[in-house]
Amino acid sequence: MSKSFCSFVAVPLLAALLPAQVDPQLAARIKEEGLQRSQVMAILDHLTNSIGQRLTGSDNFTLACEWTKAEFERMGLKNVHLDEWGEFPVIWNRGQWQGRVLTPEPIELQVATEAWTAGTKGRVSGTLRPMPKTAEDVAALSGLAATSYFWGSRPSSAAVRRAFDALVQKEGCLGFVARAGAAHPRFPTRMRVFGNHRVNPNNLPTIPNIVVRQDQAARIEELLRGPDAVTIEFDIRNRFRAGPVKLHNVVAEIPGTEFPDQVVIVCGHLDSWHMATGTTDNGTGTASTMEAARILAAVGAKPRRTIRFILWGGEEQGLLGSNSYVRRNRTSMNNVSAVFNHDTGTNWAQGLTVTPSMVDDLKLALAEIESMTPPEPDAGVDGDREPVPVLELTVADRMPARGGSDHASFLAAGVPAWSWTLKGRSDYFNYTWHTQWDTFDIAIPEYMRHTSTVVALAALGTANLPNLIARDGVMRAVGTDATPVLEAALGVELDGMTFKSVKPDGRAATAGIRDGDVVTHVNGEEVTDFGRLMRALRPREGAEPPRLTLKRGSGEASVVLEPVELPRQPRGEGRPERTPERAPERPRDPVIR
Ligand SMILES: [Zn+2]
Repeated sequence: MSKSFCSFVAVPLLAALLPAQVDPQLAARIKEEGLQRSQVMAILDHLTNSIGQRLTGSDNFTLACEWTKAEFERMGLKNVHLDEWGEFPVIWNRGQWQGRVLTPEPIELQVATEAWTAGTKGRVSGTLRPMPKTAEDVAALSGLAATSYFWGSRPSSAAVRRAFDALVQKEGCLGFVARAGAAHPRFPTRMRVFGNHRVNPNNLPTIPNIVVRQDQAARIEELLRGPDAVTIEFDIRNRFRAGPVKLHNVVAEIPGTEFPDQVVIVCGHLDSWHMATGTTDNGTGTASTMEAARILAAVGAKPRRTIRFILWGGEEQGLLGSNSYVRRNRTSMNNVSAVFNHDTGTNWAQGLTVTPSMVDDLKLALAEIESMTPPEPDAGVDGDREPVPVLELTVADRMPARGGSDHASFLAAGVPAWSWTLKGRSDYFNYTWHTQWDTFDIAIPEYMRHTSTVVALAALGTANLPNLIARDGVMRAVGTDATPVLEAALGVELDGMTFKSVKPDGRAATAGIRDGDVVTHVNGEEVTDFGRLMRALRPREGAEPPRLTLKRGSGEASVVLEPVELPRQPRGEGRPERTPERAPERPRDPVIR
């Protein structure tokens, strides 16, 4: 984002000077319900420990849709339904993943696979051999492949790769094994796996692709350099089942008493990746959305506008559920006042970034939050221990033109939409996000109680405003931040135009991209911005696959990548949104019971 694009000013709420949109007595009951009788950790517990990971299209995801729908009904919400947005051709479920080195020294391994990849046929042991580097290496493997696992990246020479593929095609092999990528200097054993749901149901993968934790992978590489044969055993319970499987968002409402067609949306995505139990991504956002609904239902809140709670599916595959929802409901997007999305973890909801035209309305809508106590007065990650106010509006000239979560689908349609700014001691992006550590124990109960209560108050306050939230400065048609989708599709971590880490056997590694490569040109044209790169990587009818020129150390390399399906990305800055003409509303007392 260029400097001129946005200017930021943090403003205090000054609630004391303003009439609240939530009656103070009702607000007190909301706070009591949310802070003293909270159910948010029980919801999160069921979601992550009883259901588990909720990969889109898995049986767990379907189960999570059914369970959350039943819970909304039990809370007494209205118009509770599953909102179908698509289907996947096959169902993929993971069970246990086990691996161990048997000889020359026993090692219990921590292993993982991408979603929509093959498992083993039961517990299968075999010889672990390094991936061949030369044609002679391939020839020497004749007759051995069927009982072998192969270690490391695929052969870099195209000719050797073809010869090796032909051998595997003829003889079969037990699986490909590699070092898990995506470690972090502070978290060297971190593992992250993703996956591509676009499998061909008539030609499903049959050979497992397994990754091993970094430190254990290093030991395996030492063993492979030693004199003794390395035998290894895996039991990878990845199972495909014939589809198609219908995919849903879950929707529930508290109908508006005065303007039922006008809506405030509270949301979070229900789906997760499959590595752990999807606690901070996004069990926390799911649980706070459900708990906000429960709190408002429990106190009998009667908002002027409808509050609609939505749990999205397919977020991790590129905001699929919310994109579809916005597309299918595009004619009623002018009736959506605001969208409060909760993603990015267990830290507490502390702020929103808004445009100048929204400030006054939001000060009214959020006034009752200001008297709350921050769950941790000086919370911050990594020594950032400055005291922070309980709620802060950051004013920018325009709504942030990016966001890797479902609110971006609404911003693209010109709707004021936020992902809460979170504060606190949890290190989401480095530690829990998409890793093996994203489990229930890392959720912070006092933060979760606080956030759910804030979400409930914000939704009710916004639904009770005299008008819809102004849209000036919302950058319509500005798309989503597709970085995580691109990273998942290619099997890399990106830092701007640099491939910070390249996962062995991912699409980028297979194409020959290495750690530290920097993209300079696509199809001979210089690219310096990420949007340009994204557009170049999209599939185009009849076009050659994109050729990337890479700066590698002091040299240069060139690779051809298969095109990647990605969410739409902005051209330029997008088109500023204007507040739609509204029918004049009769003036009324702003305090609503
Ligand atoms: Zn998420």
